Amino acid sequence: MEIAPGVHRIGPTKRGWKLGGYAQCYLIDDGSDRLVLVDTGYEHDAQSIVSYLWSIGRTPVDITDIALTHSHRSHLGGVAALKRLNPQLTIHIHEWEADICGGHRMAQPMPFRPIRPLIIYPMRIGALINYDAHHGCEPDKLLEDKDGQRIGPLEVIQTQGHTPGSVSFYWRERGVIAVGDAVATWPKLDAGWPGFNLDEPRYRRSLRKIAELEPKVILTGHGLPVTQDASAKLKRIL
Ligand SMILES: [Zn+2]
Ligand SMILES: [Zn+2]
Repeated sequence: MEIAPGVHRIGPTKRGWKLGGYAQCYLIDDGSDRLVLVDTGYEHDAQSIVSYLWSIGRTPVDITDIALTHSHRSHLGGVAALKRLNPQLTIHIHEWEADICGGHRMAQPMPFRPIRPLIIYPMRIGALINYDAHHGCEPDKLLEDKDGQRIGPLEVIQTQGHTPGSVSFYWRERGVIAVGDAVATWPKLDAGWPGFNLDEPRYRRSLRKIAELEPKVILTGHGLPVTQDASAKLKRIL
């Protein structure tokens, strides 16, 4: 559904860890000839993304760019299928994450602690043993380690810490920011998921950087996006 002008949320109808932790992706349509998909959900076949495109009178051929926040499984699910359906689209990812996206390297293992919340623990074990790995897909354009690179209306903002190549995508004119796993709202509104941030001090600096932008809408990787009092909620998390 369109959750803000030009911003569509595509995600599973049921909550739970089996669906990549209620993993979400977002279609960004600024009315130009660019149609940008931020992340690709958990499903291997991208079925929900294709169905959603059909429901708004679009097809995978209309997607010009896929912007990936990072290379965890819940964000890469549909990437290979969408590229197969539309070989012309450009896949963007931070250079540090490129070989994971391509299927040549496993994502970095997560620490065992903290144990809670238990509801996401199966996913940590899954990541550790590379269970149900995504279908590898070579990215087309590597994002450098600097702010301000553009993908359609989106600005790339470096927000590392969750992983070494985590980035956010900021639609400045509309106050909308897609933050990947820097903020989660499932199972509850939180600073990402406890135990999932590989470099905690760096992550905190990134979260502060996101808060300083004072966004109106936060597009979260897991759980429904934040569309009300986004800036105040970010400050509360900090
Ligand atoms: Zn992640
Ligand atoms: Zn995630």
